[in-house]
Parts: sequence; C-alpha cells; structure tokens
Amino acid sequence: MIAESLLSSLRGKVFWNEPLSTHTSFKSGGRVKAYLFPEDCAEVCTLIRAFQEDRMPYQVLGDGSNFLPSDEDFSGAILNLANLNSISILEETQEHVLVQVGAGVGKQKLLFWSVENGFSGLEFLSGIPGQVGGGLFMNAGTHLGSFSNVTQKVFLVNQQGEAEEKVLSSDDFSYRAQSFAKNKIIVGGVLRLTHGNREEMEAKVRKMMAERKATQPLHSPNFGSVFKNPVGFSAGKLIESVGLKGYRVGNAMISPKHANFIVNLGGATAKDVLSLVDHAKKTVKECKGVELQEEVVIASRAHSARHS
Ligand SMILES: Cc1cc2nc3c(=O)[nH]c(=O)nc-3n(C[C@H](O)[C@H](O)[C@H](O)COP(=O)(O)OP(=O)(O)OC[C@H]3O[C@@H](n4cnc5c(N)ncnc54)[C@H](O)[C@@H]3O)c2cc1C
Repeated sequence: MIAESLLSSLRGKVFWNEPLSTHTSFKSGGRVKAYLFPEDCAEVCTLIRAFQEDRMPYQVLGDGSNFLPSDEDFSGAILNLANLNSISILEETQEHVLVQVGAGVGKQKLLFWSVENGFSGLEFLSGIPGQVGGGLFMNAGTHLGSFSNVTQKVFLVNQQGEAEEKVLSSDDFSYRAQSFAKNKIIVGGVLRLTHGNREEMEAKVRKMMAERKATQPLHSPNFGSVFKNPVGFSAGKLIESVGLKGYRVGNAMISPKHANFIVNLGGATAKDVLSLVDHAKKTVKECKGVELQEEVVIASRAHSARHS
C-alpha cells in the first residue's frame, strides 16, 4: 500500500476516509481512502508514479457534477485538481486571445473572467458547474457551443506519471466525449478566444442563466443531464412523453421539472439511481423505439474513468 508518508509530505491537502457525498453534486457515494488536492502538475506526476508502483487504484474528479459514485467504499485515491487554478493570457492579437487555464479552474470563474475582459467564446459555459478539466473530459457544452470549439491544446499526465501535451483538432472531440484523455489526467489547456462586446456577452449569459433557472431543478441535488440527446430527439422530452416525470425509486426521482434530471430527495443511493436509469431506458426503448445512452459518468460502469 502506498506510503502514507508520501501522501503526508504533499504540499497539497489530503483527506483520509472521506465521504464522496460531500464532493459530488448529487450528494451520494461511499467513502474514499484518500481524497487528495495535489498542488501542481509535478505533484500529480509524483502521485501517479507512486500509485502505479504500489498498484493503488486512483481516479481524478472535478466538482463531481456529472458523476455518480458507487455506494461502496473505494480503497484507492481520488485526485482533485482544484489547486491547478491559474488563468493566464499567452498571446493577444486583433484576431484572437490565447488563454492558458489550469484544469482546476471553475467554469463559472473562467466565464466571468472572460466576460469581464471582453473575451468571447466561452458564453456556452453559462451555468455549467464543475471544473475546466471535467468540462474538457466531458466536452461540456450547450446549444451555444462546447469545449471542442475553443480548445487548441491540452496538457496531460499519462499513466506512467509523465507530463504530455497535445495539440487538438475537431476530430479529438465528439458529443459530450473526447478521445485524448483515456487513462490520462488533464492538467490544463489552451483556449482560443476572440475579442467581443462585453454588454452583448453579459446579456447572453444572463439569458442562459434565467433559462436554466426556469427549466432545471437547481434547488435539489442532481448531476445535470442523465442521458445524451439521441440524434434528432430531446432525451428529456422522450422520458416525459412516456409518463416518467416524478417516477421514483427509493429517494431518487425523475424530476417533475425536467425529465432528463434525476434529483436526490435525501439519502438516494447509486442503486436507486441505476434502477431509475434502467427503467427509463427500457420504457423509452419499448414505447418510442429510441435507445438512450447515459451522459452521467457512473463509477460502477465507467471503468475507463478509474485507473488501476
Ligand atoms: C445543474 C447542472 C447543470 C449542468 N448543465 C450542463 C450543461 O448544460 N452541459 C454540460 O455539458 N454539462 C452539464 N452538467 C454536467 C457537468 O456539470 C459537466 O459535465 C461538467 O463539465 C463536469 O465537470 P466536473 O468538474 O464536475 O467533472 P466531474 O463530474 O468531477 O467528472 C466528470 C468526469 O470527468 C473526469 N474528469 C474530471 N476532471 C478530470 C481531469 N482533470 N482529467 C481527466 N478526467 C477528468 C472524471 O473522472 C469523470 O469521469 C450539468 C450539471 C449540473 C449539476
């Protein structure tokens, strides 16, 4: 087992036997043996090398806003990159502004920074929770765009604990997915923004926020969209059309406000959520002939998100 002395000597914080319910937006999950906040990319590399040597399973998480942890305890480590939180301008010309951003920067912080500086391109982030690393991993976005539209380069740490960088093309991204971070940790990226009109950007952001407030169950713990929108369909409308709004298993419920959200009524388990997910998939397939595919990363099913 990994030397506790190594973890204790980190400059970043370490929490032992930490409940994941305090680190996920759905507020569920078992405990993790070590929940770590490495201080910088060098500490991430050191940790990964030590985990590999000691065969300790590990995983990276951002704000846990699109992640359903297992109800079981996890005897490995979770890394949260919140300390990799710098934003810096690399290059500014009339055509573009290249911004380097750490994986741990909050998306809303980045959005407000860009609007404040009159840099356009990130308005699609309005109201999307979580960190930049999680956003790049999920290719998070809205009808206004996604990370694929602005990301030029990513900085990664591979399974050998080595730092890498990769210049990206649009082929590296797809709808709520990417192909560059399999078994890798994203530690930062370079985004290409343009100069924009601050008032227009503010108006766009305000409109998006108001739309979210009106249509999403933001006062109950949830993990955003449960399912991806199948081509030509809205997942929420499909689930609503088969009468599942308000359908409940244990303390997990398909939101009566937006059918592509599952809310935690208090103490919901992953088992409750998975029953709901499977029931919605089966019902939509039977009644509408459409296959739903999960957007939320489910720990017990997403082996690629966990390294061992
Ligand atoms: C109310 C609400 C509204 C939402 N609206 C939207 C929306 O409009 N559009 C949208 O796309 N999403 C939306 N989401 C989902 C979620 O916020 C996004 O997917 C977000 O980008 C996840 O970021 P995170 O830091 O929380 O990632 P997490 O949930 O912590 O992680 C998600 C996945 O990314 C991986 N990951 C995280 N960080 C890294 C890293 N540094 N390197 C490698 N892998 C990493 C994790 O292992 C996990 O597999 C919403 C969620 C909520 C709760």
